[in-house]
Amino acid sequence: MSMLETDVRYLGGIGEKKAQALGKLGVFTLFALFSFFPGPYEARTVIKPIAMLMENESACVRGMVAETPALSRIRRGMELLKLRVMDDSGALDITYFNQSYLRDQLQKGEYYVFYGKAIVSGGRRAMTNPVFERDGAAHTVTGRIVPVYPLTAGLSQKMMMNAARQALTACADQLPDALPVSVTDKYNLAQARFSYENIHFPADFSALALARQRLAFEEFFILACALDALRGRREEHSGIRLQAADIEVFYATLPFRPTGAQRRTVSEAISDMSSGRPMSRLLQGDVGSGKTLVAAACVWYAWKSGFQSAFMAPTEILAEQHMETFCAFLAPFGVRVGKLIGTMTARQKRDVKAALLAGELDLVIGTHALLSGDVRFKRLALAITDEQHRFGVDQRAQLNEKADRPHVLFMSATPIPRTLALIIYGELDVSVIDELPPGRQAVDTFVVGEGYRPRLNNFIRRLVGEGRQAFVVCPMIEESGELPEDVKSAENHAAQLETVFPELRVACIHGRLKAKEKEAVMAGFVRGEIDILVSTTVVEVGVDVPNAALMIIENAERFGLSQLHQLRGRVGRGRHKSYCVLVSNSEGGEARARLKIMTQTNDGFKISEEDLRLRGPGEFFGSRQHGLPELHIAGMGADMNILQTAWDAARLLLAEDPGLCKPESRRLKERTQALIAAAGGRFN
Ligand code: ADP
Ligand code: MG
Repeated sequence: MSMLETDVRYLGGIGEKKAQALGKLGVFTLFALFSFFPGPYEARTVIKPIAMLMENESACVRGMVAETPALSRIRRGMELLKLRVMDDSGALDITYFNQSYLRDQLQKGEYYVFYGKAIVSGGRRAMTNPVFERDGAAHTVTGRIVPVYPLTAGLSQKMMMNAARQALTACADQLPDALPVSVTDKYNLAQARFSYENIHFPADFSALALARQRLAFEEFFILACALDALRGRREEHSGIRLQAADIEVFYATLPFRPTGAQRRTVSEAISDMSSGRPMSRLLQGDVGSGKTLVAAACVWYAWKSGFQSAFMAPTEILAEQHMETFCAFLAPFGVRVGKLIGTMTARQKRDVKAALLAGELDLVIGTHALLSGDVRFKRLALAITDEQHRFGVDQRAQLNEKADRPHVLFMSATPIPRTLALIIYGELDVSVIDELPPGRQAVDTFVVGEGYRPRLNNFIRRLVGEGRQAFVVCPMIEESGELPEDVKSAENHAAQLETVFPELRVACIHGRLKAKEKEAVMAGFVRGEIDILVSTTVVEVGVDVPNAALMIIENAERFGLSQLHQLRGRVGRGRHKSYCVLVSNSEGGEARARLKIMTQTNDGFKISEEDLRLRGPGEFFGSRQHGLPELHIAGMGADMNILQTAWDAARLLLAEDPGLCKPESRRLKERTQALIAAAGGRFN
């Protein structure tokens, strides 16, 4: 066995307890230990004269301990160790709390380097609990760039650094260069050994940058190889081959003409389903782009070949709405549609299940209830998941396991830039509806400050007076003390609106309500029994309330652009002129500039590209809507350039060496397979 796979317990200072704590971070082996990357880093390189320390500044000082440290007990369980340190420029008062053992380590007349945060008051300078080491000793905690590890209870920074040092030394000769030399040469990447060393113990900031670049590149590169392998595996399987049918027959019955984008995406899906291989496709389209029609066309197509389809939505309200839509589209053909949701009676559920098994239903629309083990089909060919990000990867898989490799369609209203979608959903084929049905009105969008509040209230009064309804979205549930006071909480804000509008019906939904309670309030809003619905972001789901014409988002600067766009998509779904008001007091030009983009376009893809440009891909990877393995370093703000370059490089290599069979790709292949195995054999 190589050193790389050696258990962390092998290291000095790592016993059973610490090994368990590391296990919680997913770290079991030496390789995993030095692949556990730190960040951020503290620059402890500059030593400042004491007299130059500024309030709140974190810095190193070098000085002599001027007197024997004095220990005092101020009360039970509280001991202070006080000492004074001098350099040529002045004196620094240092206090340690409950670390009396340091008294023997800090000797009068000796020189030390301290690192801590300065407190400056009335011309005196002080530090509390600074780290230190003897001047002239090997630099470990001062005089260098020091990593900060994202740790859990039971582990300390010092212990982690120590362990990383030992692991790197033990594995020095076998540090895995997963990338073939041809690749590292071509893209000017730092060597593996240099990179692992400098990510943990940066010699300086430029070495750190090189290390990060190399490791992020490697991570994306291996991910690309893994996705390619998974896709290859999928393509080996055979799927249900549906018979060709003329989709124009279906289109002809619609109350409107399908858009070009709808036609194109339907043909993409149809050609998959007739190919003899299982479809595995993501349908991406902005809110209101008409994804339901595409799904209905696919259901119709499967039905023409005599097969059943299942359609899963994240909430009961959505399932009900889809029930109506699908019936309208499909009932004229005699397609038999059933519904399966949690609140149906046991008997109703039993009947639907029996009908599915007997093949007496052609389509079932439901919620998670569809996943129940006793839901079985006679001839299921197509499994569709709407708002796929609302389901876990496992749940999506469960639906798809209701038959032997049915065709699978995922639908998502989150526009993701194409470059990124190819990666995040790399295992799937992606279809994009990039065109809205004609006549759709843009939602007029404004960014306003608190000073605008009275006019905003008048605006609400006027629109509701005309019979419309309004959404108000707040960023959090209740004052928790962690966020600044001005952050509106849904509950408080609802209470406030009730006083401002005693004549209007105000209700509130937030994450603390049970799913049933949320749905009940939402259903009341859909029925028009509520004028103003205050909520946290739970309304993001694709519920259709055509009468809602106003979306107000409080503390808008706290939301990502794509999220704001999703929220805005809740209005403008009917024939009424609709508005979105982003309330933000943030003075920062950057936040304002970001929000301004919302006033300039209603195109979700443009907005998500802008989001990607401004915030980097980390947010998209971080959202965990996909089943991709967690990215160690690339998730920490790696930029799009590295991602794109690594991706292209991987495609090039795979074109030359499809199975990664060449000797120089051996390591790469191992790492790729390990990544797939760790994810349980599938990502999306
Ligand atoms: P989403 O992509 O958000 O799920 P829907 O499928 O709910 O969008 O469609 C939004 C609205 O647009 C629905 O009322 C639907 O009937 C309508 N619609 C869909 N396609 C067209 C079209 N080609 N022409 C006109 N209206 C359409
Ligand atoms: Mg929808």
